[in-house]
Amino acid sequence: MAVTMGTPLTRVLGPKTAGSMADQLGLHTVGDLLRHYPRRYASRGEQADLADVQVGDRVTVLAQVRSVTTRPMRNRRGSLTEVVVGDGSGRMKLVFFNHRHAQLKPNAWGMFAGTVGEWRGEKQFAHPDMHLLEGTDDEDDWARALVPIYPASKDVSSWVIQKSVKLLLGASGGLEELVQDPLPEKIRTRHGLLPLAGALLDIHRPTTLDDVERAVGRLKWDEALVLQLTLAARRRAAALEPGIARPRRSGGLLDAVDAALPFALTEGQREVGEELAAELDRDQPMHRLLQGEVGSGKTVVALRAMAQVVDAGGQAALLAPTEVLAAQHARGIRELLGTLGRAGELDGDPAGTRVVLLTGSLKAAARRQARAEVADGSAGIVIGTHALLQEGVEFADLGLVVVDEQHRFGVEQRDALRAKGNRPPHVLVMTATPIPRTVAMTVYGDLEISTLRQLPSGRGGVSSSVVPAVEKPGWVDRAWERLREEVGAGRQAYVVCPRIGDVAGDEPEDADGAPPEDEEGPRSDRRPPLAVLDVAELLRSGPLAGLRLDVLHGRMTPEEKDATMRAFAAGETQVLVATTVVEVGVDVPNATVMVVMDADRFGVSQLHQLRGRVARGRHPGLCLLVTEAPTSSPTGQRLAAVAATSDGFELARLDLETRREGDVLGAAQSGRRSGIRLLSLLEDEELIATARTEATALLATDRGLADHPGLAAEVAALATDERADYLEKA
Ligand code: ADP
Ligand code: MG
Repeated sequence: MAVTMGTPLTRVLGPKTAGSMADQLGLHTVGDLLRHYPRRYASRGEQADLADVQVGDRVTVLAQVRSVTTRPMRNRRGSLTEVVVGDGSGRMKLVFFNHRHAQLKPNAWGMFAGTVGEWRGEKQFAHPDMHLLEGTDDEDDWARALVPIYPASKDVSSWVIQKSVKLLLGASGGLEELVQDPLPEKIRTRHGLLPLAGALLDIHRPTTLDDVERAVGRLKWDEALVLQLTLAARRRAAALEPGIARPRRSGGLLDAVDAALPFALTEGQREVGEELAAELDRDQPMHRLLQGEVGSGKTVVALRAMAQVVDAGGQAALLAPTEVLAAQHARGIRELLGTLGRAGELDGDPAGTRVVLLTGSLKAAARRQARAEVADGSAGIVIGTHALLQEGVEFADLGLVVVDEQHRFGVEQRDALRAKGNRPPHVLVMTATPIPRTVAMTVYGDLEISTLRQLPSGRGGVSSSVVPAVEKPGWVDRAWERLREEVGAGRQAYVVCPRIGDVAGDEPEDADGAPPEDEEGPRSDRRPPLAVLDVAELLRSGPLAGLRLDVLHGRMTPEEKDATMRAFAAGETQVLVATTVVEVGVDVPNATVMVVMDADRFGVSQLHQLRGRVARGRHPGLCLLVTEAPTSSPTGQRLAAVAATSDGFELARLDLETRREGDVLGAAQSGRRSGIRLLSLLEDEELIATARTEATALLATDRGLADHPGLAAEVAALATDERADYLEKA
């Protein structure tokens, strides 16, 4: 039987290899293997690889043997062989016990794979897997300028993959027989793209890097087009299932909110407000992302949209990432609405509505009541945490979903809430962490974007400084003095630590607040991060003695947290020592100082978020980033960058650059199974936009993809892929 892309690898490769490929790399079919692209290409000419590898990396390198020395071991029987490989720029030691590789001689070329270790400050491989390049069957491959280095696994080395691919490429009939090009000829020529067979051949066996570039260009096109076709089809389907228009009505909640606001809206807030008001007035569900600098006043924009929906007879739900934040939103909104938010109560205005807070910590009876009010529609405004998403929470008529701090939620969570509408509700998601346009377009399913760039006027702004604790210990004392001065002037302060403390080795407060990858080596070499409980104790008995100080962290019960926040908001507590629970949204305008301990343990965007807690009133804020990292280290420079700019958009870009895209998109939202292998949502904006135009054109006729069975099949494959679920729901 002829080999096709769908042929199981077990039929073309040995059972052991095929088994390991399936188990360790998730490669099951010929197509899977052909789409397992090299990670990079090594060449014998330029050899920068060795200088770049990091301790702890699992890598495959192409290198030349410099020297081989064998000596008996001192304390044990047997011999130790040290092989130095490398070139001018980098070298590395390979260590073998009782080595028996006679061919491993100076000047031999080989590929070596393993986990990079370190011994007395030198990088080394202990017992690497290796494949020497002198030889018989591979001669032709090794003679090539470029050697593909594949993502490999324990039992499937890069060179085994290379050999297996070669087998497929050389199969009878060749690649042209094996692969059907799904791309319409017209599109291919219009954009000057290689045929699929040629692209696959070139990506696996290129002669030059130009070959690779052209191949990648073509293969990315397939990914972008299939993705955009899927999204375009979904847009058409969504247009067929309209939502409900929620027109603005005067004399209701919205007017009351506007009258009660203690400030004038900024121009940006007004503009975005108009945009939202108009969109809510359509039966095409709104699908909008509101991104705005920390402290730019997103909440009130959301509240006004919620009020409009309630005025129109619907319900609005606000999903917040933490109980502290949900409770704060509920408090603020209730205050603003006054009697209009207490319909049904003794002093309530019957023309108003009810504001319900639904969190995981509600006692059974309170939860029952809250759910009942949500279900019968008497609660027009429903605020909550993940508890909102649970089964059993039913809305009478959910008209608007607002997701605060979108970066803390997955798409699934937003969609779980969205699904609680009888008809698709309007959706507004808010974030202070900007999302690139293509990501909003694809991963989040065509979100329109509004931006609030302006901060309300009269803000004092925050000035930030790095306090290098090792280089300038005196500055740390000065930091506590500054804090005392502020508190003496009637202000309040936060001290933020990465860890809670008390329990040995407890983890950072929340997984998603994990700092970016360490530049300074393995974590285990470093002392544990400073902990809230320890630091609070030290401060109480030391530099901050006599101040009213309290702690806030995730191990406290929700009641304790709420009481602590209230006391702080009321000014009873002067200094709050806390974990990142204060990161998002917490709003106490009288707080003006924030001292971040071990600031190097936080990510760039996170620090910016944290700092946003002290820029919220008319008094200028001060943020001190205390760190033991040397000023000149990459970490020190990262902190300096945070201190130097208050532009969250610029910092977000810096953050994106230092993180991998997978982290940005979330593990489930990127990766091989979703059909995206080469395409970068961050870097391929233009290509994605072009593919979008082609996709729309392809679907514009009644025949849809009927004339393009290859493409239709790819789209169908993506749709049935369970991991592509997120697209389905977006
Ligand atoms: P974020 O966009 O970070 O969520 P918030 O909505 O919490 O910001 O607003 C930050 C603070 O600014 C709040 O205290 C809020 O009441 C206040 N605020 C919002 N809009 C204005 C405005 N137009 N003028 C003055 N203060 C405002
Ligand atoms: Mg907010």
